[in-house]
Amino acid sequence: MNGKNIPGSIEVDKPVKVYVDHTLCKTIGACVQIAPELFKFTPGTKKAVAVMETVPPALLGQCKAAAEACPYNAITIIG
Ligand code: SF4
Repeated sequence: MNGKNIPGSIEVDKPVKVYVDHTLCKTIGACVQIAPELFKFTPGTKKAVAVMETVPPALLGQCKAAAEACPYNAITIIG
């Protein structure tokens, strides 16, 4: 258990999904900085949201880095 909502291993041939828990997000913005193609702020609340539900393989590294960087474990990756 890594303390983050990231599977230990991800099968690259399976679709990987990502979502942000708005009850945990504190608008720190690490995810938006690390992976701007995957996360953006919601206008008004400034909570982060995943731009796309299914993560393209080319962006998987960025997605994992963003989830690792989130200090509130608000990002969950399901692989
Ligand atoms: S890094 Fe975490 S707390 Fe910060 S905006 Fe992204 S999801 Fe929210």
